[in-house]
Amino acid sequence: MTIHGEARVYCPVCQARFKFAPGWKEGDEVICPICGQKLTLRLTGSEWIGERPEKGAETEIRERVDEYARLKGYVFNDMKEELLEGLIAKNRRFGDFYCPCRMEHVPEFMCPCKPTRGGDVERSGKCYCGLFWKGR
Ligand SMILES: [Zn+2]
Repeated sequence: MTIHGEARVYCPVCQARFKFAPGWKEGDEVICPICGQKLTLRLTGSEWIGERPEKGAETEIRERVDEYARLKGYVFNDMKEELLEGLIAKNRRFGDFYCPCRMEHVPEFMCPCKPTRGGDVERSGKCYCGLFWKGR
């Protein structure tokens, strides 16, 4: 399979497509640069999709928020563990990691939520919940 320059990978968490990097191949574990989710590359027909690896709920969300913070240069405070518990509880009850501080359980509010991905932390110094904080 030849990968041309325009190839993109669909992320099922943030529902966006990010650029396929040269050298990637099926089965590789990559990190979505938009939301921080670890994904396994799969080629379905002519489309690359990222598959969420089965690691258990707690590992998945911990890796995602840590990778997202690392990618963006954000930091956490002592509310982190409480908010992670909230995210894990939402996943148990509603089937995915929706924002623990919002009532709507829609894809836009899967953590890191769309407003956060859109620059809320840069604008406000923190995300809606106070999970991600702007670094120094
Ligand atoms: Zn993503």
